Amino acid sequence: MDTKNDHIICKLIKVSGLVQGVGFRPFIYRLAIEHQVYGWVNNGNDGVLIKAQAGAESLNSFIQDIKKKAPLASDIWSITHDEVQPENFGNFSIRKSNNQSNEITEISPDIAVCHECLSDLRNQPHRKNYPLINCTNCGPRFSIIHDLPYDRHKTTMKDFQMCETCHQEYVNVLDRRFHAQPVACNNCGPSYQMLLNGQIINNLDEIFHTLDKLLKHGKIIAIKGTGGYHLVCDAINQQAISKLREIKMRDAKSFAVMFKNEELLSSYTELNKNEKAEINSWKRPIVLLKSKKVLAAGVSNGFNTLGCMLPSMPFHYLLFENIRQEVLVFTSGNISDEPIIISDAEALEKLENKVDAIVSYNREIFNRNDDSVAFVANNIVRVMRRSRGFVPSPIRVAADVEGIFAAGAELTNSFCIGRGKQAILSQHIGDLKNWGTFLFYKESFERFSRMFQFQNRLIVADQHPDYLSTQFANELALKSSIPIIYVQHHHAHIASCMAEHHLDEKVIGVAMDGTGLGTDGNIWGAEFFLCDYVDFERVAHFEYYPLPGGDKVIKEPWRTAVAYLYKIYGAEFNKLNLPFLQKINKQELQLVIKSIDKGFNAPLSCSAGRLFDAVAAMLGISVFSGFHAEAPMRLENVIENNFVEPYPFSVDNEVISFETCIKEIVSDVLAKVPISNISARFHNTIITAIFEKTIQISQKYGISKVVFSGGSFQNRYLLEHLEHRFEKKHDVAAYFPARVPANDGGIALGQLLIASKRREMNFI
Ligand code: ZN
Ligand code: ZN
Ligand code: FE
Repeated sequence: MDTKNDHIICKLIKVSGLVQGVGFRPFIYRLAIEHQVYGWVNNGNDGVLIKAQAGAESLNSFIQDIKKKAPLASDIWSITHDEVQPENFGNFSIRKSNNQSNEITEISPDIAVCHECLSDLRNQPHRKNYPLINCTNCGPRFSIIHDLPYDRHKTTMKDFQMCETCHQEYVNVLDRRFHAQPVACNNCGPSYQMLLNGQIINNLDEIFHTLDKLLKHGKIIAIKGTGGYHLVCDAINQQAISKLREIKMRDAKSFAVMFKNEELLSSYTELNKNEKAEINSWKRPIVLLKSKKVLAAGVSNGFNTLGCMLPSMPFHYLLFENIRQEVLVFTSGNISDEPIIISDAEALEKLENKVDAIVSYNREIFNRNDDSVAFVANNIVRVMRRSRGFVPSPIRVAADVEGIFAAGAELTNSFCIGRGKQAILSQHIGDLKNWGTFLFYKESFERFSRMFQFQNRLIVADQHPDYLSTQFANELALKSSIPIIYVQHHHAHIASCMAEHHLDEKVIGVAMDGTGLGTDGNIWGAEFFLCDYVDFERVAHFEYYPLPGGDKVIKEPWRTAVAYLYKIYGAEFNKLNLPFLQKINKQELQLVIKSIDKGFNAPLSCSAGRLFDAVAAMLGISVFSGFHAEAPMRLENVIENNFVEPYPFSVDNEVISFETCIKEIVSDVLAKVPISNISARFHNTIITAIFEKTIQISQKYGISKVVFSGGSFQNRYLLEHLEHRFEKKHDVAAYFPARVPANDGGIALGQLLIASKRREMNFI
């Protein structure tokens, strides 16, 4: 034991947070040996418990190192320690966990390759250039797990027998690979193969050599990643980009790119401290960054931001070392809205005839897990797509959510299950209207239920009867005789953000969104609520306009623009000669007018997203839309100057009307005012309207907390400026989404909390 200090102290240390299933106990063990600490470590209810006995000095540095040197994927919320009676310990030991229910959190997300492994890649004889190197602190997790407990034979590593060298490391508690389930090396682990013109290449050097040549010539390669396939090509080669767009059947959406290293990344993009930290984090998400140097124009397709990644797999590092390209497109390997491809058989079937080569490795991906996407606004990371690196880390909530299944929304779906006080959000599933995606949804629900030993007792779904998630929930409720409740879409949005910020009280909820069914049968999407988890009262909203053609307006924003103009100007609007109208087929225009007049297939909507659509179309920016939310995104994209006055708008009790704003926009368009100014003024109008109405509600009802959510808060300009307004307003506290997506991908969390509260209050 400690000889420097004869005063022996014993402490009971509680570490709370996400510390299970990430190699935390072996880490504590090694730390204890290093600091000559005796005692034990064990799993506790909310983290790990450590009994540690040593000289005062050693014990202190031991406790400090817990935080300082903790495994990458762990997330320590707090460390508390109390002095207790010293005992007679002969060593330090890892105690076996005796509580099964503790095991529920023990699935770590996939972790990017760590620095130590990158160094082993050069130095360890049996892992020299081993493209799937990993250790306890890094490597695949969620993507390879079949079932719990997390053990090699319950992962897709089960087919690989460890060699003697790997086994020695695996059983040695002092080794970094102690109990690293996917541990492998060049002698025993999975390996890469390339399929080129019907020939298989197994030699890694040859694969890289061939990739270098193919990429140089603008070829498209499918490469298997951690949670699914990527389609990869040279990001500087416009021809390659055009070909990729054809393969993906994707017309307008920008492609994510992977840079060789951070240095290169910062030569192409503006990168602040927080963005740098996020893109380098072990989660390695795609981070949306401002471009400063262009790649091939087709990559970002007119947007001034770029979805960027740094290498996350050892293979990626080796790839960039062996090819001449320094920036590659790394887009999800799927066609259109289908889920990303994970199996080699499907890659062969769907991609072999389209791409120039397929690069795979012979370890199966079990759980599909797309790249996560985030951006930084006002120095805070905002997750837009929560998947690889994030899932299935639970979100700690204040309520008991045990046994609740929240089905989520329909577009950008993600569902959620509750275990105790942990909300476990699924990976990004996607648009359920795609059949393959819907199957993926059902399969993932079954898998989550099994993996987390989930006993479903209550189901909660969106109140939109047509959502496939709602229909699935209905069937499940019927089949299993489980009670089901329905939640209004925007109430769930607000509850999601409340849950993220641990709020449980009456708040003002402001939802700015695409669409969601309202309780009056209209389509909502710009709502001011007084709400808590149980219920909401709608106290204000944007003015209703018809959406001629119903769902057609999503792909044809011009329809919404016409609806606004027709309501404001009557039939005279046609004489305004707004340039965007020239792009519209005259017959279709007449049909649109007719449908508004007759109120046929023209549901009323107050959605903020549709208002942004209308303005984007009037400005000629997006008369038609190639992908979800393209029009609002392009409208934001043209803003150059922040400092312009808002347009006028009016508030009549509950209804905020932008009629005067639209009129001024029309005259600005006719006067050829630059669209960047019009867009900035329009944004400022929305920001001012939201801010003023919120303050008014706050004063009227005496509520000082306001919670924002909904897809529109992915608009950086809107989000940042609104946040700034509230920062200066000290008597109102504003909460915005950050770690949980503001879009429909975050809705299931809100549904879960609403269901939990209603159950607690016996309202079910
Ligand atoms: Zn590692
Ligand atoms: Zn081995
Ligand atoms: Fe929504």
